[in-house]
Amino acid sequence: MKKSISLIFICLTLVFTTGQTNKVKAPNILLDFPLRCTIDKDCWILAYPDLDSSEKWKDYKGGNRTYNTHKGTDFVIKNQKRMNYRVPVVAAANGKVIGTRNGVRDINVKKIGKRSVDKIECGNRVAIYHGQGLLTDYCHMLNGSIAVKKGDYVKAGDLLGYVGMSGLTETPHLHFGVQYKNKKIDPFTGKFIKNWPIQGLNRSLWKPEIKNKLKYHPAFIYNIGITSQVPNKSEIQEGNFEQQNIKNNSKFIYIWADTLSIKRGDVLSFTLKDPLGRTLINKKSVIDRPNVRRFFYLTHNRNSKNLELGKYSAKVKIYRPAKQVSYKKILDFYVVE
Ligand SMILES: [Zn+2]
Repeated sequence: MKKSISLIFICLTLVFTTGQTNKVKAPNILLDFPLRCTIDKDCWILAYPDLDSSEKWKDYKGGNRTYNTHKGTDFVIKNQKRMNYRVPVVAAANGKVIGTRNGVRDINVKKIGKRSVDKIECGNRVAIYHGQGLLTDYCHMLNGSIAVKKGDYVKAGDLLGYVGMSGLTETPHLHFGVQYKNKKIDPFTGKFIKNWPIQGLNRSLWKPEIKNKLKYHPAFIYNIGITSQVPNKSEIQEGNFEQQNIKNNSKFIYIWADTLSIKRGDVLSFTLKDPLGRTLINKKSVIDRPNVRRFFYLTHNRNSKNLELGKYSAKVKIYRPAKQVSYKKILDFYVVE
């Protein structure tokens, strides 16, 4: 189980100490959304803090949307292409910048090895002290994008830089860490991430309207897409493979899905319908083993005739029978001459 999580989205953070004492009162500060993007539309929660102190892992809802020892909330964007269009990272509350790092290149750590990011796992970063013992930390930001410096005062919503993939990461995302009294805390529950002697704050640190927007999805599909060639996983994850239409003389239509946090027993279904409403693909499979991230694709092979011109609809759905939860993504595309 442990090795399955070793390569994926690992982003550790170092503790910035602020020197505050334990005598501060429970903070009344509430956090705003630390990005300028629309949650569940062009950015998603990839992983929550791990609230299990053993070698297993569990998110704040008792689910598996985390991995062992993960200490922050990961907000992911679609791919590296989107990263290059720049997604702003903003301060979650008013405060003072107490540390920054810049100059770490944006690269999939798989290509350079974990050792090369030793001690710079967080990549390009900003840390902000908000007072009342509360600190926020922003990791893996885009190289050269850090817009603040140590000692600056920032307001909630001020630009700090852009989402990147610097440090110990395989995909462009923001690792958002929260600390209270120098200890990592889960912003959804206010619980300390490790079993500290004190119980943390035991309340959400998000503003209520933000908490409402950050809906929890027990099962989740990161991305889906279509292509006329065999899907290349790494090209897709880099965003260089975003096919919009398919030529009508293409022999194949592939539907691919990049899934996260799947469990054994989950049911993954693929459906493809042509412009006449005919079902070209309708396949369900039961997941055989849990996986932090797994890539799937299915193919429709046309017969001797060209593909019907017009609008097609691809649907990928994940369903967890025991919990009655599901998550789906639908993609409409065109077959053209
Ligand atoms: Zn993270």
